[in-house]
Amino acid sequence: MRVLVTGGAGYIGSHAVKVLREGGHEPIVVDNLYRGHRQAVPSEVPFYQVDLADGSALRQILARHQIECVMHFAALAYVGESVTEPLTYYANNTAGAISLLQAMRQAGVRRLVFSSTCATYGEPETVPIVESLPQNPINPYGRSKLFVERILADEAQADAEFAYVALRYFNVAGTASDASLGEDHDPETHLIPSVLFAVLGRREKIVVFGTDYPTPDGTCIRDYIHVEDLCAAHLVAMEALQPGERRIYNLGIGRGYSVREVIESAQRVTRQAVPVEYGPRRPGDPAVLFADASKIQAELGWRPQYRNIDDIVATAWNWFARHPGGYAEV
Ligand code: UDP
Repeated sequence: MRVLVTGGAGYIGSHAVKVLREGGHEPIVVDNLYRGHRQAVPSEVPFYQVDLADGSALRQILARHQIECVMHFAALAYVGESVTEPLTYYANNTAGAISLLQAMRQAGVRRLVFSSTCATYGEPETVPIVESLPQNPINPYGRSKLFVERILADEAQADAEFAYVALRYFNVAGTASDASLGEDHDPETHLIPSVLFAVLGRREKIVVFGTDYPTPDGTCIRDYIHVEDLCAAHLVAMEALQPGERRIYNLGIGRGYSVREVIESAQRVTRQAVPVEYGPRRPGDPAVLFADASKIQAELGWRPQYRNIDDIVATAWNWFARHPGGYAEV
């Protein structure tokens, strides 16, 4: 299939491009390079530096390449930043998606795979989280994505041909197992890269945000899913999607690891000590989040290959140890 990948120069989008090509599909990348890296897109893949707000450029690209499906990754994804800059998040994530959907409608492209998030659930009443739980996001990032989910449902209602799958990601981690692609965020706030930066001396230490949570070791528990498994799920979801269908799936491995367990894993993988400081809670962090990912397993047969935190951390370390300065050194 000819697939437009928005945000294809970003962390997850670039891995999706790789998985699409390996699966015999033809990705075409659109990215405004605000946070993406041109080096993350292979030279053989058509690339357009275009912002989602530019609907007419999107329409032209959709038509020129006779796009059959869009995978929409392009978005801002920092919870803290969304609290201080909500309008930027609604403009990029919500208005950007509307602009893309309008271009798709005009170009007659009626199939979409959308990157949603477990942040749309907010503070869940029960874990593991099933797709039917109420969605009450507690920050603008989660709301900016939830609005898009609602808009997609309305668009599907309005057009019987429109088909979409919304994938609610848990904590995406790791890098391509052949170390051909990496993770390079600026600023970097995610746990696993931050721990590895502390090992590399790129930062002085890792601060653990809170040790008084109601969990066995007092630190937060999250569900870390390997980026290649996540992208493989996009592929099976896209291939299964029939005209007029609407599908929603959680993407996680279905078990959680605590912050302490992740740090211990990094020590095992890197064989180095991680300088750690124990600090106060970060506002807005729920204690425990992990997925019930049985729906996509039962309906599409997708299974994560990576289930052990050491294996996930090892792929990230493989890339960071070779590229301590990120894509600037590639
Ligand atoms: N975390 C931490 N120190 C850091 C970064 C993250 O203790 O420097 C914790 C954070 O509180 C959360 C978990 O690690 O419980 C995962 O955080 P991350 O920012 O990677 O993802 P999030 O769960 O916020 O999407």
